[in-house]
Amino acid sequence: MKENSPVFLDDDQPHDECGVVGIFAPNENVASMAFFGLFALQHRGQEAAGIAVANGFTIRLHKDMGLVSQVFNAGNMEPLQGHYAIGHTRYSTTGSSSLHNAQPFMVETQHGPIAVAHNGNLVNSAVLRQELLQRGVGLTSTSDSEVIIMMLAGARGSTWNERIRSVMKKWVGAYSLVILTRDGVYVVRDPWGFRPLSVGLLPGGGHAAASESCALQTLGCVAIREVKPGEIITLSKSALTVHQAIPPNPRQAACVFEFVYFSRPDSTWNGKSVHEVRQHLGRQLAIESPVEADVVIPIPDSAIPGAIGFSEQSGIPYNIGFVKNRYIGRTFIQPTETLRQQGVALKFNPLPATVRDRRVVIIDDSIVRGNTTGPLIRLLREAGAAEIHMRITSPPILHPCFMGVDMGTYEELIAHRLSVDEIREQAGADSLAYLSLEGMMSAVGSTNGYCTACFSGKYPVPVQRQLEKASFEPQENGNND
Ligand code: SF4
Repeated sequence: MKENSPVFLDDDQPHDECGVVGIFAPNENVASMAFFGLFALQHRGQEAAGIAVANGFTIRLHKDMGLVSQVFNAGNMEPLQGHYAIGHTRYSTTGSSSLHNAQPFMVETQHGPIAVAHNGNLVNSAVLRQELLQRGVGLTSTSDSEVIIMMLAGARGSTWNERIRSVMKKWVGAYSLVILTRDGVYVVRDPWGFRPLSVGLLPGGGHAAASESCALQTLGCVAIREVKPGEIITLSKSALTVHQAIPPNPRQAACVFEFVYFSRPDSTWNGKSVHEVRQHLGRQLAIESPVEADVVIPIPDSAIPGAIGFSEQSGIPYNIGFVKNRYIGRTFIQPTETLRQQGVALKFNPLPATVRDRRVVIIDDSIVRGNTTGPLIRLLREAGAAEIHMRITSPPILHPCFMGVDMGTYEELIAHRLSVDEIREQAGADSLAYLSLEGMMSAVGSTNGYCTACFSGKYPVPVQRQLEKASFEPQENGNND
């Protein structure tokens, strides 16, 4: 393992989501505002963080590995003076963990310096990369975010709006971007609307953008609205300007996994409260897969609203069955071998008073590789649970995500390799049931406009299903309609 690589303890959640913020706030400490915005998005990325600030002439950047609170201090924030800022917090698998990939990326262009922070993944980045290399553009990483900034650097047009628009037409896939120039922040969302991005009015004047509305609320924003697919919103001077740069794709593809796991429950996604949708997912699951039991417990924290919904619908009392150490999920300190063998016990302690001699329904939001389910069930058995019924508030994950979420390969996805009953047996549960795809979409409240590809295999954009394949396969179907 590389020095500097975080240790992912007992983690069975999708990775590679990122959080971005953009700020225009004259007469305010924009770096500090970006810091607190990123702080509210820490759940979207815990490996590296960075802030770039523009003062009308230059851009200054600081980024490093670690949590937002570890990367920044009064000393390295001090030079970040200006009116405009962007920030990024990054997740990654251990292997690709390095400062090299930390964002924002920054380059000099003939129109002045620019910095870019990106959430998402371009599915055609390999082709775009080749085009750049053939034009003699040097690249330092395999990151699609570097492809984005180098294409922006060479884009044609007399304004940044025109230049951004000209390259948006070539990008296929997920991109929620904040782009910093000397004197503006450009907030850009792909025409499919894969990943979230919102803007709001700051209380002291100016505007902010962030991956999730919870970060804008933290900054005291009002009049928060989601950036529409295909829009470029410019934060500069006193006004916010909105430009529908390219038409929204007829098949919208908002990531349904934002409801299942990624977003904070106090965020709004695609016009709906994440917390409320998660409760609906739990209710629907109780309707589809009822069970006789004494107590419903969540895997903290993302499954809490689902467990509340399951409890309300089923009438089975809700309680806390695990206490989670929220700060140990990723650490740069190498655990000893003995501690590493503790696995999930380093992160979760069961509460025997809740589960002893009881029939327990345990609610989780998803099972990805399946490496934590068995150990959690063992902890419950050791704490005296009489029966353990596992209920999952999403369908089995059968396909990888190519739009910026690291769920692993087909081979790594447990539901791709094993049947539901085989997963149950391997985990040691008395029963296991997932929410159906139809049930999930009914809880979300719509069957159209969402990407469900990791569950359904219906990718909204053409994807390269096997990395070793040289060419893109045609898209299998449209969206989940
Ligand atoms: S494949 Fe899954 S995780 Fe990826 S964008 Fe679609 S719904 Fe979201």
